[in-house]
Amino acid sequence: MSDPPTPTPIPPTSSIVPLDALFNNPLFAGGIGLAGLGAAAALARKSAIQGAAFIKRRLLVDLEINKQDEAYQWLLAWLCLPRPPGGFVTSRLTRVHHMSMQTTSKSGQKRSKDALIAYQPGYGRHIIRHKNAYVAVHREKQSSSNMMTGEPFETITLTTLYAHRHIFAEIFQQAHELAVSAEEGKTVLYTSRNIEWTKFGDPRRKRPLESVILDRGIKERIVHDVRDFFMRQQWYVDRGIPYRRGYLLYGPPGSGKSSFIQALAGELDFGVAMINLSEKGMTDDKLALLLTKLPAKTILLLEDADAAFRNRRQVDADGYGGMTVTFSGLLNALDGVAAGEERITFLTTNHIDRLDEALIRPGRVDMTVRIGEATRYQAAAMWERFYGDIDKDGKGRERFLERLEELGLVADAAGQKKTNLHTSAAAIQGIFLFNKDNMDGAIDMAERLIPRIYEP
Ligand code: ADP
Repeated sequence: MSDPPTPTPIPPTSSIVPLDALFNNPLFAGGIGLAGLGAAAALARKSAIQGAAFIKRRLLVDLEINKQDEAYQWLLAWLCLPRPPGGFVTSRLTRVHHMSMQTTSKSGQKRSKDALIAYQPGYGRHIIRHKNAYVAVHREKQSSSNMMTGEPFETITLTTLYAHRHIFAEIFQQAHELAVSAEEGKTVLYTSRNIEWTKFGDPRRKRPLESVILDRGIKERIVHDVRDFFMRQQWYVDRGIPYRRGYLLYGPPGSGKSSFIQALAGELDFGVAMINLSEKGMTDDKLALLLTKLPAKTILLLEDADAAFRNRRQVDADGYGGMTVTFSGLLNALDGVAAGEERITFLTTNHIDRLDEALIRPGRVDMTVRIGEATRYQAAAMWERFYGDIDKDGKGRERFLERLEELGLVADAAGQKKTNLHTSAAAIQGIFLFNKDNMDGAIDMAERLIPRIYEP
């Protein structure tokens, strides 16, 4: 008997591949492996981000400060000021790779030889060490900008460990002390930039009041009035009058109006916030806004007040003020909400052909003073300041005064003979400066004080 034939294998009717075979396929296994790795990496990344966020929330503390805040500049200065070894600032910049530069001219003029270059941490992230703590500093320029000034918003964020949070107070304290010490013995001048106040150059050395020589008793009268104002806050409060005082100084150019105001500010330990009312683009609205945010402890100086008087006539004539300050705009601004508690305003003008009654109200202008051409009294006092130590017997001063009298520039000693010509304190100072330590030179040059009249 022959063996039964072996059945031929039936080909599979469907394409079911055994799992084993699938996993044995190197391509498939590789793909799974990669996907697994990818998922694990994504998971790890997510956990790391969540973990970092958790750590940040729990362990770190940050503080954001924007450019509008006064402390912003203190902080920038603090971050990069050269620190004396063993000085009270003990932090040290450990990793500031990106610096930016800010150049200001000493005198506030554009082309000054004494340009000051200040290095600041640039935009981006930096690490500093302050005592035992590390602080991340993130200086950032935002994409949005201030609608009024067009300047982009800027912030600095400081981040440190929660355990070290107390150092923020310390850093700001030191930054403030540095800012204050940088301004000690100096007068800070502010000027308006658009609708913001900005420092005008570097703080200037205080001008001593004695260096400004006004006619007999004028300086003393104003200084006494200002001091009296400071002592009477309660008087104003009790009567419901805004605690403000205004002064109008008028007279020819070079008579010492601005110098006096600056010296007075120094005497009171105040800054000076200046606005030139004839400046192009200075409108009623801008003026009003600026006055609501006057920097603290500053004298408000509104120069060239006659611009507003002039514009009043213009407005009256055509009913339209244009891009300048109008008289009613000036009055409104003076009456508007003041930024701080007290306000001292000085208005100056070279021409006061029409002083308006509306200006002379409490809080607007309480005192009007003419600072005029140089008198005999002033010429003598200025001589003393320049040559007092070499002109011991005062003979030089007498010769100088006689010469001025002869030229018709000052009255005689008895005040009988009036003068027909005038000179300014600025002009007298000019010839003294030209003849330092040379009294005779100054006397010889006195003739140059005669005002020149140019015939076209
Ligand atoms: P004004 O504001 O009246 O135009 P400034 O105060 O700007 O005058 O004076 C111009 C310059 O003349 C300054 O350098 C200042 O030192 C000098 N000067 C003017 N008047 C006096 C004064 N009365 N006493 C001392 N210096 C003066």
